[in-house]
Amino acid sequence: MSRGGSRTSGERSGEAGTFIIAIDGPSGTGKSTVARRVAAALGAGYLDTGAMYRMVTLAVLRAGVDPVDSTAVVEVLEGLNFSSPQGPGHQAHILHGVDVSDEIRGQDVTLAVTPVSANPSVRAWLFDRQQLLAHSGRMVVEGRDIGTVIAPEADLKIYLTADAAERARRRHTQNVGAAAGSHVSGLDLAAVAQDLERRDTHDATRAHAPLQAAADAVVLDSSSLELSETVDEVLELARSRGIR
Ligand code: C5P
Repeated sequence: MSRGGSRTSGERSGEAGTFIIAIDGPSGTGKSTVARRVAAALGAGYLDTGAMYRMVTLAVLRAGVDPVDSTAVVEVLEGLNFSSPQGPGHQAHILHGVDVSDEIRGQDVTLAVTPVSANPSVRAWLFDRQQLLAHSGRMVVEGRDIGTVIAPEADLKIYLTADAAERARRRHTQNVGAAAGSHVSGLDLAAVAQDLERRDTHDATRAHAPLQAAADAVVLDSSSLELSETVDEVLELARSRGIR
């Protein structure tokens, strides 16, 4: 398939029983939890593409490279070795043999991932890997550009959103719950809201693969939905597309 793809939903020629569900949207919508639960319910794999950008970013920081120095960032890609878990259960993210699952969620990485993910060479480097995994069978793939760039022919595309205050509240609650993990930030609610706003604005306005709903995506506003209701809605949409 050509880079960026030109097919749209429903034009996939996968083997019987295989599918791709693309779940895109801004930060703090509960995307990851929804995607994992949908994958678990369908007995499918789950790919967190945001974690891949976070892995590259952690490697950049560890190399002492300025995340906005695009040339130096590209040099870090050479020899970079990490695994991308594809199960909907607990995911261990391993960088050069060490579990960095907590560290990639920390504030340093969260700040630096914005310029790193806007770097076209980083996106190109991850593109092949993400496309291959997305097309590996029965997959739920989560990110910002899955329905538009990585799998434009996905069987179902969801653009999950929620109003900004609700997203900040959810992310803050998540952070508090994870505070036992020493790398997770202890930002207060206002700071979390500011951080989400910063990341989403950058993600939506960058030149390469900006955050946007695919033309044929189902936009799902989860502001007033319980998590289980959002999951049910996605599963219902999947069933309506023949995904079981
Ligand atoms: O999903 P998560 O918040 O972990 O993603 C971290 C960052 O990675 C996002 O803020 C975004 O800049 C970038 N990202 C991206 N494209 C994706 C997934 C994530 O640019 N498909």
